[in-house]
Amino acid sequence: MQTQQKTLFDLIVIGDGLAGFLLLYELSKYPAFANQKVLLLGDGKEKQRSWCFWDNDLEPELQKMVNTSWKELSFKSDDVIVRQDLGNFKYHYIPGESFFEYFNEEFLSQNPNIQFQKDIALDISGSDGSFKVTTGNGLYKSPKVYNSAFLGEKPRIDLWQHFRGWFIESEDVAFDPNNARLMDFTVARNGECRFMYILPLTEKRALVELTYFGPQPYDMSVYEKEIAAYISEHVGKKYNLLEKEYGQIPMQQGVFRHSGKNGEINLGTLAGMVKASTGYAFQRIHNDSKEIARAYFTGKKPKRFNENDRFAFYDALLLWIIRNHPQTCKEIFTQLFQRRKMETILRFLDQKTSVWEEANIFARLPIRIFLKALYYRLTGKSFAQPEYEYHVLRELQNA
Ligand SMILES: Cc1cc2nc3c(=O)[nH]c(=O)nc-3n(C[C@H](O)[C@H](O)[C@H](O)COP(=O)(O)OP(=O)(O)OC[C@H]3O[C@@H](n4cnc5c(N)ncnc54)[C@H](O)[C@@H]3O)c2cc1C
Repeated sequence: MQTQQKTLFDLIVIGDGLAGFLLLYELSKYPAFANQKVLLLGDGKEKQRSWCFWDNDLEPELQKMVNTSWKELSFKSDDVIVRQDLGNFKYHYIPGESFFEYFNEEFLSQNPNIQFQKDIALDISGSDGSFKVTTGNGLYKSPKVYNSAFLGEKPRIDLWQHFRGWFIESEDVAFDPNNARLMDFTVARNGECRFMYILPLTEKRALVELTYFGPQPYDMSVYEKEIAAYISEHVGKKYNLLEKEYGQIPMQQGVFRHSGKNGEINLGTLAGMVKASTGYAFQRIHNDSKEIARAYFTGKKPKRFNENDRFAFYDALLLWIIRNHPQTCKEIFTQLFQRRKMETILRFLDQKTSVWEEANIFARLPIRIFLKALYYRLTGKSFAQPEYEYHVLRELQNA
């Protein structure tokens, strides 16, 4: 009987990352949450991760985790520099340390109804109303399971956003802390879609990151060489390397699901909450968490991002272009940032623009390539094997 009580929960959350914690955070806003017996399963390891996103009204609890915010963003390509105020938005940076420190220490101690078990989930069985979660150490039961961990086979991903970043501190003033550089396409080579991303944290400290959209990561030495060369050109040689980060984010549609095979609710990346064309996930996961928490306490159906709306269709066109014509990315992004306001672009990425605004955005982009993408998309014809074409293109350009 005692064992049964120890393993029976009102709800189980799998994954101690962004989606797991943001869901608990949103659930905790409901007074009835304090009476719920909750299990959080995760590895409890410190995650080397940070998040950037934009917002026009960040709630105080999240604001406390923000390390730096920018009112301006810039874009650079060969002979183009666009630097713009973000209007009502701010671009925020939350380092993983602040996020996990708040959740692991403050939040969990303020919510003693949550039992955090450092334990890895292996399997979910049962069905809605009576789930069983098997872990390395035991079996837990609950009518509701929310899962952000890939259990079993991972989906096949053929396009990734790969990035390698260096946190550096220069001896002299080298950065403008008012302005984050979203993309610098001057580093694009060999027909690849790649750019440098710079987050100045102070006048001397910054994250300089090489981002590349493609099927396979480069050899690590390629990132290191490129970043070192970029820093030497733009900052000079007098700097200290403080830390490095590496990551990859799936840029894929059609492989993630809102719920798992037994009807458990999927969260975060697993649920397709990463925007496939950009890799941004923080705000989408946060909004999704609000919807799921509301559904838990009201019984209403959550409104979740889906892959059937017009924004997912735009993403599909852009992904097709990135896969099949990566050499055109530089021109597409240059025209986009040259001709549209940053604030409009951010609202477009938030999926909050009107159809009229969207038509205006597309009308200013290289239209032929989008029509081609549209044709292949609508007819379902395959243009070429993406990986095949990608390598052929690379070889041709290296020849
Ligand atoms: C390096 C990096 C930088 C990024 N930067 C940004 C950014 O700037 N802005 C942005 O919006 N998005 C960014 N992203 C996208 C990012 O994937 C999402 O923001 C977010 O972390 C996804 O949340 P998640 O909860 O789905 O996954 P995670 O945050 O990875 O959380 C999953 C958790 O589940 C745990 N887990 C795994 N398996 C099990 C198991 N079997 N049992 C129990 N627990 C398990 C893991 O330990 C992890 O803690 C970045 C991604 C990476 C990799």
